[in-house]
Amino acid sequence: MDSETQTKASVIDGKAFAADLRAEVAEGVAAFVARTGRKPGLAVVLVGEDPASQVYVRNKHKSTVEAGMNSFEHRLPADTAQEDLLALVAQLNDDPAVDGILVQLPLPAGLDENAVIQAIDPDKDVDGFTTASAGRLLTGLPGFVACTPLGCLMLLKDRLGDLSGKSAVVIGRSNIVGKPMAQLLLRESCTVTIAHSRTADLPSVVRGADIVVAAVGRPEMVKGDWLKPGATVIDVGINRVPAENGKTKLVGDVDFASASAVAGAITPVPGGVGPMTIACLLYNTLDAARRREGVD
Ligand code: NAD
Repeated sequence: MDSETQTKASVIDGKAFAADLRAEVAEGVAAFVARTGRKPGLAVVLVGEDPASQVYVRNKHKSTVEAGMNSFEHRLPADTAQEDLLALVAQLNDDPAVDGILVQLPLPAGLDENAVIQAIDPDKDVDGFTTASAGRLLTGLPGFVACTPLGCLMLLKDRLGDLSGKSAVVIGRSNIVGKPMAQLLLRESCTVTIAHSRTADLPSVVRGADIVVAAVGRPEMVKGDWLKPGATVIDVGINRVPAENGKTKLVGDVDFASASAVAGAITPVPGGVGPMTIACLLYNTLDAARRREGVD
């Protein structure tokens, strides 16, 4: 593209969208409390001392309380036995004050992550990680969708409106981002391609797409000249890399400088998809509470 036809992509402000969504959830919570006489409740289980997980859990607690919901934190030592963790999940499944359950991952070595996640009642699975939730998404039944892909979809629909008929490439096939993202886009009647580490000639696959969602974990891998001009680019990646000042900085999976010269719209990192994840967790928790009480 020559410099005369080159335009700058509009930057999708995930931070502002997430703030609006949180305000909307808080309004919904107030209406729920007025109707039912109780607050929605989110239980978060943190096992061990992983520093990043501690930050995430602290942020989730703060946001949950700010939205007017109850936040129940359960901190367990790293040497917690599998059966004790499963007993806690069972107790939370039975607790009428708990609408949503989130077990912070990763769990310390020695604990069976999958067994713990599958023990969560699908009707309280606000992270959308159980096979029941994945199956509900796949078959079009109502259920909870993993927070990060749900946030990406909200940003896409806000930007593009009807997604029907658009061609979408999701780069990454993880259970928590890539696969549910592809299912959500399929549900919106996009023509979806899932690319991954074994995809041949990734740039030409990406070049065919109106929508590109990058969830890889490789700093600035997707370049501007891979993109179809005007494409909408959602960058899920969070990668910490060395900065010029000797410190570190966060970058996405997309090379923002070259991509924003070709794309129609693009999410920045930070400030794009990241803030949507917690906002969608609150959204799912309110949804869980409404479903449990049978209110709209
Ligand atoms: P993952 O490691 O589980 O999956 C990465 C995927 O990328 C794999 O499916 C793999 O096939 C694919 N891949 C790897 N190398 C590739 C290559 N060279 N070409 C094409 N595909 C390749 O990661 P994940 O949990 O899905 O996370 C992906 C990224 O998103 C990470 O940077 C992570 O930090 C970030 N993330 C962000 C949020 C958020 O809230 N914004 C949430 C979850 C994950």
